[in-house]
Amino acid sequence: MIPYSRQNIEEEDITAVTAALRSDFLTTGPLVDKFEKAVADYVGSQYGVAVSSGTAALHCAMFALGIKPGDEVIVPPITFAATANSVCFLGGIPVFADVEPDTLLIDPSKIEEKISNKTKAIIGVDYAGLPCDWDRLRKIANDHKLALVADSCQALGAEYRGKKAGSIADMTAFSFHPVKHITTGEGGMITTNNQQLERKMRTFRNHGIDTDFRQREETNSWFYAMTDLGYNYRLTDIQSALGLSQLKRLPTFLEQRDRLAKRYDKAFEKNDAVIPLSTKIDCFHAYHLYVVRIDRKVIPRDRAFSELRKAGIGVNVHHIPVHLHPYYKTTFNYTRGLCPIAEQAFEEIISLPIWPGMKDKEIETVIQQINKVTEKQQL
Ligand SMILES: *Cc1c(COP(=O)(O)O)cnc(C)c1O
Repeated sequence: MIPYSRQNIEEEDITAVTAALRSDFLTTGPLVDKFEKAVADYVGSQYGVAVSSGTAALHCAMFALGIKPGDEVIVPPITFAATANSVCFLGGIPVFADVEPDTLLIDPSKIEEKISNKTKAIIGVDYAGLPCDWDRLRKIANDHKLALVADSCQALGAEYRGKKAGSIADMTAFSFHPVKHITTGEGGMITTNNQQLERKMRTFRNHGIDTDFRQREETNSWFYAMTDLGYNYRLTDIQSALGLSQLKRLPTFLEQRDRLAKRYDKAFEKNDAVIPLSTKIDCFHAYHLYVVRIDRKVIPRDRAFSELRKAGIGVNVHHIPVHLHPYYKTTFNYTRGLCPIAEQAFEEIISLPIWPGMKDKEIETVIQQINKVTEKQQL
């Protein structure tokens, strides 16, 4: 089976992790700081706060904003559930604003009608690796005095009008899960230029305690204060060693994803039944996912999916519109019809394999099989 995504681990990654294992710190040591600075520098942001997952990153961001029970946060339906879940963790209400039909990114023209006096923030999701229309999102956020958060878990390395994902919103969440651009096994980070938010997130990831063990050792003090109810969301030094080593190859990873995407684009120009999602000229697409719509008049997506799986192509579907999950239906009474554009797209989308290290022969096989599955039905 050719998977839709997979990690890229080289000997240098293994060497880096081994060295961390031989060092004095397995967790909360110098490599965490180094990794935070390296990611923050890379994206062009002042601070990076490393955490144990992309989900933890989003939870930290919502906590730092002070989201409380009953507060509303606007989110898109086409995303991984964790985006909206992070609002629910604090008792908040995720309010879904529908997506643009061609990119499946949150539609700025659908946001204002969803704003109420309880709205506190907007989370834009750089779905598949393509940045949202951040200038328009910023204007809406400013006009209504809302915080602007980016879920760029799929978009490390993406660029919007010359700015990297991670330097645009008030806070940006990244994930280092093995299917994402770089991995630490599990891991995540929030980047921000706001020192107050950064401090709150640092405390929150460490039980709500205002200093960490190493800082206390350095100042020879046993005193610490737990000021908030936080979690253990720390990233380890072992994981940071892997992250630092992976980050060095990120430019190469992005180039390879871009090259594979262009190859797919070209192949599907000749196949009317396979329509890639739109890209944007003012953005660099990080291509975490390569998503196409399958023309349902030619073959229903579900049949294309099972035929491709049978042929050894590890296609996937990203994502089930979040408001249609049973939890959201029962907790918030959300129903079909809330976001019609997302719901219709969901019936047609399929994610094709794309990852750095994917061989020419593998992408050729995928293209051949897609053409075969969508052609057969046309006869
Ligand atoms: C992967 C992902 C997350 C969650 O990241 P984890 O590291 O798996 O917790 C959140 N949002 C989006 C859009 C993602 O793709």
